[in-house]
Amino acid sequence: MASELEPEVQAIDRSLLECSAEETAGKWLQATDLTREVYQHLAHYVPKIYCRGPNPFPQKEDMLAQHVLLGPMEWYLCGEDPAFGFPKLEQANKPSHLCGRVFKVGEPTYSCRDCAVDPTCVLCMECFLGSIHRDHRYRMTTSGGGGFCDCGDTEAWKEGPYCQKHELNTSEIEEEEDPLVHLSEDVIARTYNIFAIMFRYAVEILTWEKESELPADLEIVEKSDTYYCMLFNDEVHTYEQVIYTLQKAVNCTQKEAIGFATTVDRDGRRSVRYGDFQYCEQAKSVIVRNTSRQTKPLKVQVMHSSIVAHQNFGLKLLSWLGNVIGYSDGLRRILCQVGLQEGPDGENSSLVDRLMLNDSKLWKGARSVYHQLFMSSLLMDLKYKKLFAIRFAKNYERLQSDYVTDDHDREFSIADLSVQIFTVPSLARMLITEENLMTIIIKTFMDHLRHRDAQGRFQFERYTALQAFKFRRVQSLIFDLKYVLISKPTEWSDDLRQKFLEGFDAFLELLKCMQGMDPITRQVGQHIEMEPEWEAAFTLQMKLTHVISMMQDWCALDEKVLIEAYKKCLAVLMQCHGGFTDGEQPITLSICGHSVETIRYCVSQEKVSIHLPVSRLLAGLHVLLSKSEVAYKFPELLPLSELSPPMLIEHPLRCLVLCAQVHAGMWRRNGFSLVNQIYYYHNVKCRREMFDKDIVMLQTGVSMMDPNHFLMIMLSRFELYQIFSTPDYGKRFSSEITHKDVVQQNNTLIEEMLYLIIMIVGERFSPGVGQVNATDEIKREIIHQLSIKPMAHSELVKSLPEDENKETGMESVIEAVAHFKKPGLTGRGMYELKAECAKEFNLYFYHFSRAEQSKAEEAQRKLKRQNREDTALPPPVLPPFCPLFASLVNILQSDVMLCIMRTVLQWAVEHNGYAWSESMLQRVLHLIGMALQEEKQHLDNVTEEHVVTFTFTQKISKPGEAPNNSPSILAMLETLQNAPYLDVHKDMIRWILKTFNAIKKIRESSSTSPVAETEGTIMEESSRDKDKAERKRKAEIARLRREKIMAQMSEMQRHFIDENKELFQQTLELDASTSAVLDNSPMVSNMTLRALGPAQTQVPEQRQFVTCILCQEEQEVKVESKAMVLAAFVQRSTVLSKNRSKFIQDPEKYDPLFMHPDLSCGTHTGSCGHIMHAHCWQRYFDSVQAKEQRRQQRLRLHTSYDVENGEFLCPLCECLSNTVIPLLLPPRNIFNRLNISDQPKLTQWIRTISQQIKALQVLRKEESTPNTASSKNLENMDELQFPEGFRPDFHPKNPYSESIKEMLTTFGTATYKVGLKVHPNEEDPRVPIMCWGSCAYTIQSIERILSDEDKPLFGPLPCRLDDCLRSLTRFAAAHWTVASLSVVQGHFCKLFASLVPDDNHGDLPCILDIDMFHLLVGLVLAFPALQCQDFSGISLGTGDLHIFHLVTMAHIVQILLTSCTEENGMDQENPAGEEELAVLALYKTLHQCTGSALKEIPSGWHLWRNVRNGIMPFLKCCALFFHYLNGVPSPPELQVSGTSHFEHLCNYLSLPNNLICLFQENNEITKLLIESWCHNIEVKRYLEGERDAISYPRESNKLIDLPEDYSSLINQASNFSCPKSGGDKSRAPTLCLVCGTLLCSQSYCCQTELEGEDVGACTAHTYSCGSGVGIFLRVRECQVLFLAGKTKGCFYSPPYLDDYGETDQGLRRGNPLHLCKERFKKIQKLWHQHSITEEIGHAQEANQTLVGIDWQHL
Ligand SMILES: [Zn+2]
Ligand SMILES: [Zn+2]
Ligand SMILES: [Zn+2]
Ligand SMILES: [Zn+2]
Ligand SMILES: [Zn+2]
Ligand SMILES: [Zn+2]
Ligand SMILES: [Zn+2]
Repeated sequence: MASELEPEVQAIDRSLLECSAEETAGKWLQATDLTREVYQHLAHYVPKIYCRGPNPFPQKEDMLAQHVLLGPMEWYLCGEDPAFGFPKLEQANKPSHLCGRVFKVGEPTYSCRDCAVDPTCVLCMECFLGSIHRDHRYRMTTSGGGGFCDCGDTEAWKEGPYCQKHELNTSEIEEEEDPLVHLSEDVIARTYNIFAIMFRYAVEILTWEKESELPADLEIVEKSDTYYCMLFNDEVHTYEQVIYTLQKAVNCTQKEAIGFATTVDRDGRRSVRYGDFQYCEQAKSVIVRNTSRQTKPLKVQVMHSSIVAHQNFGLKLLSWLGNVIGYSDGLRRILCQVGLQEGPDGENSSLVDRLMLNDSKLWKGARSVYHQLFMSSLLMDLKYKKLFAIRFAKNYERLQSDYVTDDHDREFSIADLSVQIFTVPSLARMLITEENLMTIIIKTFMDHLRHRDAQGRFQFERYTALQAFKFRRVQSLIFDLKYVLISKPTEWSDDLRQKFLEGFDAFLELLKCMQGMDPITRQVGQHIEMEPEWEAAFTLQMKLTHVISMMQDWCALDEKVLIEAYKKCLAVLMQCHGGFTDGEQPITLSICGHSVETIRYCVSQEKVSIHLPVSRLLAGLHVLLSKSEVAYKFPELLPLSELSPPMLIEHPLRCLVLCAQVHAGMWRRNGFSLVNQIYYYHNVKCRREMFDKDIVMLQTGVSMMDPNHFLMIMLSRFELYQIFSTPDYGKRFSSEITHKDVVQQNNTLIEEMLYLIIMIVGERFSPGVGQVNATDEIKREIIHQLSIKPMAHSELVKSLPEDENKETGMESVIEAVAHFKKPGLTGRGMYELKAECAKEFNLYFYHFSRAEQSKAEEAQRKLKRQNREDTALPPPVLPPFCPLFASLVNILQSDVMLCIMRTVLQWAVEHNGYAWSESMLQRVLHLIGMALQEEKQHLDNVTEEHVVTFTFTQKISKPGEAPNNSPSILAMLETLQNAPYLDVHKDMIRWILKTFNAIKKIRESSSTSPVAETEGTIMEESSRDKDKAERKRKAEIARLRREKIMAQMSEMQRHFIDENKELFQQTLELDASTSAVLDNSPMVSNMTLRALGPAQTQVPEQRQFVTCILCQEEQEVKVESKAMVLAAFVQRSTVLSKNRSKFIQDPEKYDPLFMHPDLSCGTHTGSCGHIMHAHCWQRYFDSVQAKEQRRQQRLRLHTSYDVENGEFLCPLCECLSNTVIPLLLPPRNIFNRLNISDQPKLTQWIRTISQQIKALQVLRKEESTPNTASSKNLENMDELQFPEGFRPDFHPKNPYSESIKEMLTTFGTATYKVGLKVHPNEEDPRVPIMCWGSCAYTIQSIERILSDEDKPLFGPLPCRLDDCLRSLTRFAAAHWTVASLSVVQGHFCKLFASLVPDDNHGDLPCILDIDMFHLLVGLVLAFPALQCQDFSGISLGTGDLHIFHLVTMAHIVQILLTSCTEENGMDQENPAGEEELAVLALYKTLHQCTGSALKEIPSGWHLWRNVRNGIMPFLKCCALFFHYLNGVPSPPELQVSGTSHFEHLCNYLSLPNNLICLFQENNEITKLLIESWCHNIEVKRYLEGERDAISYPRESNKLIDLPEDYSSLINQASNFSCPKSGGDKSRAPTLCLVCGTLLCSQSYCCQTELEGEDVGACTAHTYSCGSGVGIFLRVRECQVLFLAGKTKGCFYSPPYLDDYGETDQGLRRGNPLHLCKERFKKIQKLWHQHSITEEIGHAQEANQTLVGIDWQHL
């Protein structure tokens, strides 16, 4: 059908293209009714361009729209060709100095913490980098989209509002200038005309609600029956639901459904079906039916295609308008004018109003288009921004209500623009005074919270899910209020005062609804049935916290406002609790001759609420009265006489008593909700406006009361009055053992009450309460946090309250109180408390939780012990109170307080039963200490004429009064200091007595008043010193004794070693685990060590004993004994790859015999080095397997390892493994036969081997063609002269035990299976190749690591590596014994033929395409299969040596052919050295052999240097290989790092130092070989530049270079769009650290199919880039991601740190992040070491939740 339509469509297109924009514009210029003309044009053309089929063609549509629709408008506007017109406009423009860049999702934004007026003021990256703020303290975040750059907005920045770029224009525009002056009258008029028509058209069509009918002036006659079934998005249904429904409803594939769903989610709507009405209607009904079951159905509309067409063009038009106004500020102003012009219907009829008011009805895509237009027009024009702000404020209530009922996220709502408007201080102030904005916001908020109880308080008790949803959305109004208040006024007008106080009234109304909300009653008997709802109330409180604080800040700025606010607040509080109207009865309390009237009220029996915002606000204002001194300046203006202190303290006291009772366990039956509430009440997020203010309110009330009265009321509220008012109550009580619980409860309550007194007297660090400033307050917080333990910056920040600007003020003071300790490779930077700050430590700091308090106590005592001080933690010296609160100190010396102290001390002295507690005593001691400190300070500061009224020392020296005549407090303390059961408090009591005496001395010297003598103290003092001396002496003796013993022991050891030298040596040799020590032992060091060849250093047979980690049995490693194995992990690797685009296409057919020098995919073997019996391991693995099967049936859970793939965890170290390697002795010794002294030279040897190979090939041919032509074959046999001593019929006996043979097969098969990713098949001829390959690759990768880290080749390797390499090499050497002899021989022949060509092997890779080390390992390890049939006396060693020399020669040629030919002008050191001449000669030969294609190089020195450098890695690998193969110890020179070890390597490897000698010595054959290597066509192509080749040395692979500043990565990622969904921004851009590719991760759009499963972009990428293993950086999260296979993954800490040495995973804190090179190196090292998979395994074992993540979807 489509093809039939094609010509017709094309015809239309052609006719459209013939349309001339200029002509149309010309017609419009003549028109009398322009609107009608334009509308007709649109009505005719729009449906012809847009929506002509089921799928949009954006490019074609855009092209046609530009040509037919927008072109004419541009012509009309410019009055000429817009290609000239617009640039002219642009030139004439005087651009504004605002940046206004609208942020993309994920784009980095910057805010200066020093200069931004509030945290919403942000800069784009370009402006930031050009601003002064880059050197300030700044925060970086990623934008969620929307919002714009505030550069150039003078109101947003306290300093530096312009970046360099935008500053340029400021000098020109000093005054506000009308931008229209730069436009001609004509242009203004035309622009106005066309903008008015087009803007109106767009608004009209976008807000059009009919589904099949157009506005009259757009309706056309011939309307086709073409409709769309339009699906809209909502936030209710999930992606999966939508995809599933669509597949059903419109019969599409899953892929198409995903496409639809993605577009719906992004744009807010998408047509899912196109056709006639019936056809669309049908799809609609299916969708609605399918999605209406649980929730409201998906929104679907069947819309006529022409409506959709016009709407699409409407959107296009708005974007066009946005672009056009970009040319000129004048055009922008005209658009603003058009938009805000009131329409014919009066109020709210402007186009802007119409759009705003329809916001919640529009789909997402439409909203974001017009929001963007608003931002680039109205908000960029200073004049119209103000007018727009007024419109916004006038519609505020309506817009918010729409938003609350709408289900889109806030960022898609016009309501979200409030942040752009309200945060502009001048606008905010204007809206407050002119539009009464504060009141409007608060009232709107209240309107949406309708659930109230009988008293009019909020009630969230039974609110529904819908209400909860609404409640969440309403909270955004609090943010608006915050924005309005965030910048504080510097000047107050009467208007502002009035409107602010009006707002304050509204705010009090709000708080009044919260005062006493969610009241609770203690549950007795039964546990509560249902946990009451508490979170809503606390959410409200939490969100309002900053607003409450800001209200106080505003009040503090103006005395008149403060006084009025204080009066209003007090009045509201009185309304809430009109005196004691709760119906409680008055009672009288009396102690120590004092009595007071109060009410009967028990927290444990009546209703109590934690929410008291009105009281707390009043407390805050009261402190301000003190701080601003208004209280002293204008006392007559204040209602101080109306204050009733008992009324003020009543409710906060109840709240604190509630906490105490909860702590005492009295409210257990009220469940967790209460525990949670108490937790938040004290939590750093809430406490500033909850707990802290309750303490202040108590301080306020008590400062106006007789302290005795207060203490009695408090005793009564704590329900402890009886205990302290009845003299013998304690005694009697303690004897009643039956009420153990009650006694415990009372003990806790007493402790809590004492704690509260400590707080009321001691908490003086709020400015206004004590004589301190804000800095002192924050310092004190930090000191106490760091007293618990050293902390990282972020930890510290979390423990401090943030203000509305997200600042804690910590940075300004931290240096004064703490040292910073930098982080190491792991962990974080830490702050440690300075020693001199320890004296300010207060054990009863009111923000400590119980756990923190005990931790801090322990830490501080420990510190004191370390410093050899006593462990007393006396109260610190406190700053004085402000006058308004000064009387509070009298609590300490009040009669009732002394009575309480005496009572508790009495109990402690009596020490009977459990009617007292040590904590109680400790608190009393602390209080006494506080009183003494207070008195001492008073004495210190006393002036001549004043008498110190604080006489605590006097009072505690007096004995108790009749009738009980108890001893004085002092006397009791003296008694207690010797009590054995109070050992912990001894130091504190001593401190008290000492301080007491010090005060006494001061008093005596000033002879103010006599104080009682205290004999005991002085005595104690001296006995204490004695005590100390004694302890010191004992410690000294102990130390000396220890030293002596140590000396004796080491002496004895030396003797022992001397005497038993031989024995000692032997034990060393025998000990298996110290094999490394053995290598380094000096026993063979005085001769030249040779690792291979006939002259190989002979190593005495070593016996090796190992212990099985499973059964702990020891066993010797022997050929015939049971196999011992190492746990091992085999994996494919691309770590060394020089070509990441290459991977094995068809593993079944792939031939791995020759490794390409690009090492594109190797097989790596690693091991943790733990040894087991083969059978023990087998048993272990079987049990793991069985367990796993059971578990899978039961739980369907993943594990960190894949049992089905043979994976298991090492039973000892839990290291991920997937096979085992058998432990073997050096295998060569077993096969070494005769060692006849006369060994052939290379030439001879090659000849012999070639003959043997030929013989074998003839034999093979004969075997493969049996009988048929036997005569002919026999002829051949005759022809063939078997080389002397060659017996191809001989088959050697396998020397290994069955169990070892089995393990050889096991590991071989595993390597094959993993390396090729095929099914295991032990018969496959490729098995031995894979074994050799893994050996070669693993050695190569270790050589790389050692070189990169500048480590010596044979330095102390970690044990596990050493064991692994040894086992792996020996295994690979022994594997041929379990493989088919002819197969291995075949491999040898083929490998050999690549260097020494024979007739049977054509088509082998040329020497440029062979990795020589792999070739060497293959040849050496396959050689025994040939040699075992040779009885002529050629030893294995000879063969090894010749093979090695041959491969080395080939490698030298390889290097010379590919060496870089550029000269770098360095002087030749030794112009005519032997090596230089030789290499030059060789090069000449090469030159000849390549037919002069090789470039001429004159300098032998360069050539020799290239050879030496190029061959080093190869020689090092060979040294490692032969070392492990033959067990020859390494020469000591190679065990230390240093300069090039070239000579030592050559010696060890039996090579001449002048490598070129190899060619000279074997002159006869050299020429032939070189010719055969060079005559290859590939070599020729390479030399002629037609192909590439690897050159040597190969450089090590590195992870990509990362930028120093993290934000440039974010910026890079924000410019990255999903490669599959056409220009969309990727949500989770993820960077491959191996190759630098950016991927669109964790998203449907970029899923691909891999081995029959859908996988995310990262997983797919690992398969091509890292053969399954990947290292990524998730840029938005700043998180490193490790992936291995489809099921394994973990997050790893990123290499970016902030200045405090911390990472910021998730970018939550926003501190600037910089690259930490060391950490990045560590990640690179993990990669080089092939430890990524292992790291994932450990992470998953440590954190099981990682196992459940669908890593393959990332
Ligand atoms: Zn900017
Ligand atoms: Zn700028
Ligand atoms: Zn700044
Ligand atoms: Zn065992
Ligand atoms: Zn292990
Ligand atoms: Zn994508
Ligand atoms: Zn990559």
